[in-house]
Formats: sequence, C-alpha cells, structure tokens
Amino acid sequence: MNNILDELNNASDIMIAGHVRPDGDCVGSCSALYCYIRDNYPGKHVDVRLEHVPDSYRFISASSYISTDYTEEKEYDLFISVDVSNKERLGKALKYFGSAGKTVCIDHHISNEGFADVNLVVPEASSACEVLAGVMDMDKISREAAEALYMGIICDTGVFSYSCTSRQTMEIAGKLMEKGIPYTDIIENVFYEKTLLQQRLLGKCLLSAKMSLGGQMIAYYITREEMDSWGARNEDLEGIVSQMRQTRGVEVSVLASEDPEGSIKFSLRSKSYVNVNLIAGCFGGGGHERAAGFTVFEDPYKVFSEVEKLTAEQILRRVQERTGND
Ligand code: 5GP
Ligand code: MN
Repeated sequence: MNNILDELNNASDIMIAGHVRPDGDCVGSCSALYCYIRDNYPGKHVDVRLEHVPDSYRFISASSYISTDYTEEKEYDLFISVDVSNKERLGKALKYFGSAGKTVCIDHHISNEGFADVNLVVPEASSACEVLAGVMDMDKISREAAEALYMGIICDTGVFSYSCTSRQTMEIAGKLMEKGIPYTDIIENVFYEKTLLQQRLLGKCLLSAKMSLGGQMIAYYITREEMDSWGARNEDLEGIVSQMRQTRGVEVSVLASEDPEGSIKFSLRSKSYVNVNLIAGCFGGGGHERAAGFTVFEDPYKVFSEVEKLTAEQILRRVQERTGND
C-alpha cells in the first residue's frame, strides 16, 4: 500500500468520523476528507458524522456537510477515523466502526496505538489536517477542502505558534493559501474572534485561577452551576486553557469542567518541557506532549492534587537533570 487513501478504491460506501467534543482540527479534517472523496471519487457514497459542530467552525462551508444524526443503522464498506487517538473517543460513531468492512485511522496523537485495520499515525505532524494534506494529491484539493484543512492547521498550531509547527506545516499551509482561500478571515473568525460570553468566561477563569508550584502551575475548575449560570456550553471554553498557559512563569495550565452528565473533563497544556500526555495517560486520557486531556468521574479537587503532584515530579526531575549537567 503506497497511500492510505488507496483503501478508497475498494469501497463504495464510506463513513468518516472524528472525536467527541470536536475541535477545529477534527471538524476541518473530517469535512476536508469528505470534500476530497466527493470531488475525486465519483460514484462513491460518503457520509461524515460528528456529535456536534461548534459555531465558530461553521465559518467554513465544508462544515455544512457534517451530519450529527446517528440513528441510521448502516454497515459501511470503509470507516475512516480522523484526529481520533483511541477507539472510545469515537463516541456514538463507534457502532459504525464496529460494523464496517474495513477501518482506517488517520491521526497525529502520540498516544495513538493504532486501533484500526490500517493506521497512519504521524506524531510529528501538527494536526490531522497536516497528515491528510500529506496523503492527498495537492492538485486535487478544492478550495473548499483547502479552507477546511487550513482551519484545522491553524487551530492545532495556535496560528503557527505552538512547537508542533514545522517547516512541513508551513509548506502545506503555503500550498493551501495558493488555492485562494480567505486565510486572514479564517484565522480571525475561527481562532481569534470570541463571543462576549466567551470573553467573560475567559476573564472569570483567569480571575479565579489558583497558582501553585511556585507560580509554575495555573489551574481552575469551572463547576456545572457556574457554566449554567452563565448559559455557557462546553465549546465556550475553547482556547481558555491555552490563554492561561501564557501567564509568565507558568509551565502547566489546567482547566477542568463538569459535563452535563456529571463527568469531569480535564484539559492540560504545557509551555516548554512538561509532558502532559504522560500525565493525562495516568487518568486514561492522552493527546500530545504540550496539549492533552482526560475525563474522570472522581472528585475534581482530588484529581487536581494528583495532577499537581505528577507535574511537580516532572519539574523536579528537570531541575535535577539541569543541575546534574552543570
Ligand atoms: P483539549 O484539552 O483541547 O480537549 O485536548 C487537547 C488534546 O488532547 C487534543 O489533541 C485531544 O485530542 C486530546 N485529548 C483530550 N481529551 C482526551 C481524552 O480524554 N483522551 C485522549 N486520548 N485524548 C484526549
Ligand atoms: Mn488534532
């Protein structure tokens, strides 16, 4: 197999899915792959499903092809998972994964062990969109698909600022720009623009956050009551944990929030050396070295102190390594 997309040749009924609580890379990669198959594989039937499409990602037209309906009972020839690090993160799409003739996984999470029949996991890639653009024929990427891919890349790289950004990322982004996409509008509307509620939530989290480990850790837990009193949805928290990390002296930022069903979602970010993927892994989650997450049903304050302890251990080890080398 030269190219993972060659799997498309042997399938006529195809389903694409991403992870629960979809982010920009997830929406971008799912909708770009949908457009690419629709445009270049005539005669194939393709569906794309996500549990929800946050408003900010609706800016790109390709997001309109995503269905949020999981009632259809169907066995697909081929199921393609994008931006999903483990099977459980497929959420409601898991039933289609289980019944599909063949499964393909295209991803960039370091914690991904390859759960499908055929796997392409590139941890060095900034985003699932970067992995996809690498396997797609650039000449066959439409402007609509290019917009979706560009959106995923800017979301997962923080507009090319995070350490996951590479020369390859920039080269792919450059080629997508040549498709005539409105790149400044995508960056502004998808990444930077926030609703007033989102801005106020950010303010609330920053005002109430607790500093620890001598100013190297910043953390906040936003309760369901608080979320409800603001009329806030989970997607309104997007970007807040990254903003918390920008505090001078901070190495690790943590934002936890309660889901309506009672589970607690933790989002972790690190600035330069703490491996938050390892920490998330201790609680059944994962992600990347600088951005990871997990979900628990335990007392969030107890979990916080465990996260703090694991962070402190990594910071101490770093100090010891550095003084040992001096
Ligand atoms: P976020 O904090 O923005 O939800 O996620 C940061 C990164 O960690 C993303 O790449 C996301 O896919 C991953 N991630 C978040 N939550 C989980 C989780 O519960 N399990 C796993 N395996 N990865 C997660
Ligand atoms: Mn991603």
